[in-house]
Amino acid sequence: MSDALLELEIDATDGAARTGRVHTPRGSFETPVFMPVGTRGTVRAISSLDLEALGAEIVLGNTYHLMLRPGADVVDDLGGLHDFMAWSGHVLTDSGGFQIYSLEPDVSDEGAIFRSTYDGSTHHLTPEAAVEVQRQLGADIQMVLDVCPALPATPEVLRTAVDRTATWARRGRAAFLAGREAGRTPAQRSQVQFGIVQGGTDATLRIESAQRTVEVGFDGYAVGGLSVGETRDEMLPALDVTTAQLPADLPRYLMGVGDPLGFVEGIARGVDMFDCVLATRLARHGTILTSGGRLNLRNATHARSRAPLDEACSCEVCGRWSRGYLRHLLMVQEPTAPRLLTLHNVHWCLDLMRRAREAIRGGRFDALRGEVAEVWSA
Ligand SMILES: [Zn+2]
Repeated sequence: MSDALLELEIDATDGAARTGRVHTPRGSFETPVFMPVGTRGTVRAISSLDLEALGAEIVLGNTYHLMLRPGADVVDDLGGLHDFMAWSGHVLTDSGGFQIYSLEPDVSDEGAIFRSTYDGSTHHLTPEAAVEVQRQLGADIQMVLDVCPALPATPEVLRTAVDRTATWARRGRAAFLAGREAGRTPAQRSQVQFGIVQGGTDATLRIESAQRTVEVGFDGYAVGGLSVGETRDEMLPALDVTTAQLPADLPRYLMGVGDPLGFVEGIARGVDMFDCVLATRLARHGTILTSGGRLNLRNATHARSRAPLDEACSCEVCGRWSRGYLRHLLMVQEPTAPRLLTLHNVHWCLDLMRRAREAIRGGRFDALRGEVAEVWSA
């Protein structure tokens, strides 16, 4: 290891797809990786105990929610997110920007002013404030504050977003590096920070944004601003041109893309990290990810079924309970239903990543990609 706080060790490649481990002062996690989203300090309906049992190695925390409730200073007082959640795996926090843009904030060159959805209070998020809040939260990986427009967007909106994202990247990186040594805890002093590329589906803007972000020099790079209203046919070329600009020896993170087809198409383009609320949100509504595609557990045909959610799944839920029983819990709104269905869906996503890593090591990734496409393209 060099003196960098984060290193990507690549074990095998298959085309542009790669598998390996990301090393940090906390330890390491395998890539490609799925990061379940722990919005408010937990993955909804399950706990860090469950995440450990599922074999998750890294979870995502949402800065927007945590800075408002319980407040980043409270999390800091309680030892940072790892101690707060009693979670010894890795944690990545987003910058808070993505949630804020859905609130139609007042955005200027300086930052974004928004109203809390909890109590209507006014908050000002700048690139520097996003760094400080995430330092208090104490995750292993911070994300820089960017400007993420919903698509479709006008060329003017995309241009402004790319320019502000570049300026904020410089300010955010400077604040991060200046403040890291002053961190109160060892965890705060060993944080790393990822930059974010914007540019919508415009290839020229994507390339420019990637180059301007890489120029600043981060510990890893994220592709933001995709899966925000565009079709997959529009998304993939934008992803192609972006990943081509990013350093091959650092992690690449595709933000907010977490459907099975999105996973394999991202991995095929050299993406290492994914997060998405899809698997957990679907679970709570009774939509199950299976080897045969989506299964709607509310459907009456499952009422008398003794079959597991997915015959091919090795999770504890599939090993123990029938569709008929789980459907019953869901229909009478037992709190156990979202919990068990979330356990299955998260396991399913983690398992798809395990299969992808094995396939890359075995030089069989295209076969897995084809298999997933056949089931999930419809
Ligand atoms: Zn299962």
